[in-house]
Amino acid sequence: MVIHPDECIDCSICVAECPVGAIVNATEIPEGQKEFIELNARLAQHPDWTRIRRPKPPMSEHEKWASVQSKRHLLQLPQAMRPLDGKKPS
Ligand code: SF4
Repeated sequence: MVIHPDECIDCSICVAECPVGAIVNATEIPEGQKEFIELNARLAQHPDWTRIRRPKPPMSEHEKWASVQSKRHLLQLPQAMRPLDGKKPS
């Protein structure tokens, strides 16, 4: 999930609602995670990342993944964004 930076009004309601603390205000992102600001903005505009318009049930393994600290390498970016992932487009 990403949050469109041009549509977010920084009300911070989602910060409190996320049960695993995965959402933070952009001003509070730790130094080692600043790359996610740009990644979030780019994915928010990508046509493959469709909008969530209704509440959804949690994914089946959400509790397991909530405690995994380093997941960035598992993110499969759309082909056009691969340079951001350190891989060359094929
Ligand atoms: S709930 Fe979260 S994403 Fe939505 S406007 Fe508020 S801060 Fe932005």
